Amino acid sequence: VEILVLRETAAGERRVAATPETCRKMSAAGARVGLQQDAGARAFLPDAAYVEAVIVDDAALADAAATADVVLCVQPPAAGVLQRLKPGAIVIGLLAPHADPERAALYVSRSLTAFPLERLPRTTRAQAMDVLSSQAGMAGYKAALIAAERAPRFFPMLTTAAGTIRPSKVLVIGAGVAGLQAIATARRLGAQVEGFDVRPETREQIESLGARFLDLGVSAAGEGGYARELSAEERAEQQRRLAEHLKGVDAVICTAAVPGRPAPRIVSRAMVEGMRPGSLIVDLAAETGGNCEATRPGETVEIGGVSVIGPLGLASSGALHASEMYARNVWNFLALMLGEGALRADFDDELIARTAFSHQGQQRG
Ligand code: NAD
Repeated sequence: VEILVLRETAAGERRVAATPETCRKMSAAGARVGLQQDAGARAFLPDAAYVEAVIVDDAALADAAATADVVLCVQPPAAGVLQRLKPGAIVIGLLAPHADPERAALYVSRSLTAFPLERLPRTTRAQAMDVLSSQAGMAGYKAALIAAERAPRFFPMLTTAAGTIRPSKVLVIGAGVAGLQAIATARRLGAQVEGFDVRPETREQIESLGARFLDLGVSAAGEGGYARELSAEERAEQQRRLAEHLKGVDAVICTAAVPGRPAPRIVSRAMVEGMRPGSLIVDLAAETGGNCEATRPGETVEIGGVSVIGPLGLASSGALHASEMYARNVWNFLALMLGEGALRADFDDELIARTAFSHQGQQRG
């Protein structure tokens, strides 16, 4: 079995889909691993650290692609690489097929078995393969650090000869994987933290991190443990209570998302205008449109002394550990199919069947 690990080409992407550790595991399972030259360099994993892998230089990439049984990546591979793959080759990564119809068509027309890992069902068995969770954890952590770093105040309470400093009040909106990590991180920095989510079960999770659950009187548990979109009345009620509350908050970290939908708009421009100068918003949902109306992806907007920060690629900014976790997730998924030097995708396994986007020339969803 030949496995090819690609070097990422997307702007700002620093992660890599395999580490020296996972290459060792793939090789122990009987695979031959080719690593595109410098694939790990931007995650501080030099080629020399990949003892088990053969380094594929750029001149040899086309040939390596033509013989690969499995291609591992973070972002979707370039069309030129996909066009070289043999029919039946497996592609594993954050492939976002619906974001690019042309590339999606290639997976089907080239008879590739594409596994966009974002489609992985979020069952207990899939946890060790869940790249959305592992990458969201890094993003939430970094979001809290950005808030602390950009704030014109301390996060912790301080008692000093120059008097007492009160702790910052931090509100985390959305308490999924990223939000809970943001809460835990802001707490470690000593802030007074509140969390808010529409899924009622998050109350206990927020409180177990030593934060307070902010009750805005809206509950919207949806299917499969996710949130559903709010009705117009629910939204209005949430908005009214939140606007009042935000007047006393120093930093807001937004992480709310609804699968397959644009990010819910939760913080309006008027709410930002009502906040105190020197407070700030870090909108982790910037990539999917933002939870705050004023957010501009990749930029910081100032409104009446309030900074609205829309960071992009936060998981990538922690590339070393983000790659370590991503690579282990990928390995755990690949291990479902790889054994004793042979590769077999069992479509009776729901993790395989539900994750696959294309197989044997058919699109599956
Ligand atoms: P996500 O990124 O889709 O959403 C982030 C959070 O935003 C969610 O908690 C959601 O409830 C919240 N949200 C949505 N609309 C909102 C609104 N209008 N106001 C406030 N908050 C809003 O979610 P995620 O972090 O990927 O995962 C969500 C949950 O799924 C997890 O917390 C967990 O319970 C479950 N999950 C289970 C597994 C597993 O068992 N394998 C793995 C990962 C996640």
